[in-house]
Amino acid sequence: MAQAGKGRLNYRCPSCFMRDLDIDMFYDADKGEYYCIRCQYTGREEDVLKKNDLARFRYRCLTRRFAMDEFEQF
Ligand SMILES: [Zn+2]
Repeated sequence: MAQAGKGRLNYRCPSCFMRDLDIDMFYDADKGEYYCIRCQYTGREEDVLKKNDLARFRYRCLTRRFAMDEFEQF
């Protein structure tokens, strides 16, 4: 069985992220691909980064923590 584990970097699954799920993907070293255990997404690092960029565009501030007093500026 292929050795699977976390890649050198943790990437969230862009496919799940688009659906408001924050899932860390696993890395298949044999294939050089990241894969998601929740959906059927697999992709190479470049593909993951590209798709995560799209997701980030949609959720630009999602990963940012806001302090309550920052909200008052909006
Ligand atoms: Zn997924």
